[in-house]
Amino acid sequence: MRIGIARLNNETNAFSPERIGLDAFERFHLLDAAGLGRATGRFRPEIPGIAWNAELSGARRAIERAGAEAVPLTSAWALPSGPLSAETEDALRDQLVEAIDRAGPLDGLYLALHGAMGSARGGEPEERILRAVRDRIGSIPLGVSYDLHGQMTAPKVEIPDLVTAYRTNPHRDLRAVGARTAELVVRAGRGDVRPTTAWRTLPLVFGGGSTLDFTRPMRRVFRRLKQMEKDPRVLFASVFTVHIWNDSPDLGWSAVVVTDGDPALADRLADEAADLLWSVRDAPIPTLHEPAEAFAIAKRARWARKTGAVFMADTGDVVGAGAVGESTHLIREALRHDLRTYVPVRDAEVVAAHADAPLGSRIRGEVGGKMAPEVHPPLAIEGELIHRGHTEPFGRHLTVAVGPVRLVITERAPYTLKPSFWRDAGLSPWDADVIVVKSLFHFRIFHAHLARRVLGVRSGGTTDFGAFRRVAFREKVHPVDSVPDWRPADQRRRMT
Ligand SMILES: [Zn+2]
Repeated sequence: MRIGIARLNNETNAFSPERIGLDAFERFHLLDAAGLGRATGRFRPEIPGIAWNAELSGARRAIERAGAEAVPLTSAWALPSGPLSAETEDALRDQLVEAIDRAGPLDGLYLALHGAMGSARGGEPEERILRAVRDRIGSIPLGVSYDLHGQMTAPKVEIPDLVTAYRTNPHRDLRAVGARTAELVVRAGRGDVRPTTAWRTLPLVFGGGSTLDFTRPMRRVFRRLKQMEKDPRVLFASVFTVHIWNDSPDLGWSAVVVTDGDPALADRLADEAADLLWSVRDAPIPTLHEPAEAFAIAKRARWARKTGAVFMADTGDVVGAGAVGESTHLIREALRHDLRTYVPVRDAEVVAAHADAPLGSRIRGEVGGKMAPEVHPPLAIEGELIHRGHTEPFGRHLTVAVGPVRLVITERAPYTLKPSFWRDAGLSPWDADVIVVKSLFHFRIFHAHLARRVLGVRSGGTTDFGAFRRVAFREKVHPVDSVPDWRPADQRRRMT
């Protein structure tokens, strides 16, 4: 038995001014069949720097354990960003379809998607991918795993034979979900299980507090899903809390339950999971501070600054959620204080203009706001060039001292996940009072030893939490409107 494995992943921020090309995938992760075979081999990282074992390594091991052959096809993943250009969408879909054609006869296929991919062509690119794949593979079992931030639509749930999703946030179960999904594809291919799906989609775009899987209120939702799966008739139970920077007119949280040939049970559990999601819709989000207030708190936090640093999450410019990383709001505020503050900012023009400037030279001009100046106004600065470097995936970068502020100006989006970002910029994170990061949560994992205090700061950019209020939803959604019941919207959406 031969089971194909493939991936096509991008979490798209619909409000980003950027359109990405194939180069964004090439820089991060773009593999043909041979490359994917190597990356999922033993003793190799599947996605260097991010995940040693992700979905496809897990899938390959599970398929081999089940006595079947895993057939690597293609794998493409770009960091969260703006929508794909139309040509990029087509090229990636064609690569996948051609790899399926070249693979020879398959008895099943496992495909790792995200669920929130967007394209300049509009609509849902993942629906077009699934239609093209189904067209090629015929009726063999197709298992698809999504990120739990995916937006579920009828084709995304119904074209595959079974749908699964991550059950942790931040995501720590890529390998496990890939393994479980691929194993189900093998079992379905052998006729040992008959995947039967029910799903619900809610008129709910934002809620659940921090939405972390291990804290209230989402903890009890994920515990219940696990409990559901203790019943051997339940193959997989998932919930989706969407990427809120998605402009789908039907954006909404959803629940998907796959049973072994039991539609009534799938329906009952999908209803229950939807009710659970609906019950956490009003959980408050963690407090966000205005920039001036955040710096006032940092100034008072002497002990935190002495023993580490105060971290400020720039919530309007979260590169890990697809923002471009060129916001200047926190730089402007930092320059009003005498705290040693490290701030990253993307500006390819400034980096190029000073490519040959010697260290110690004066840098004068505007930084930031090149891609969406109406959202992130450029800021005039004058400072001294103290370091330069080139680090992938940020490209070339300059470190400029402007008063007490250390600006790290990068060619591409500064995804400030790890302390090495600062060291590569010639800065010791221990010397900072305040460190501004373009990440909401993931940075905490790598900065736990340094981050004595973490403040979420409201900076009104691409990833502002209120961005969904600008979307033209097809009907009333929580929390934009008051919605008494999720069921009418669910029924209408699943019919279309
Ligand atoms: Zn996610």
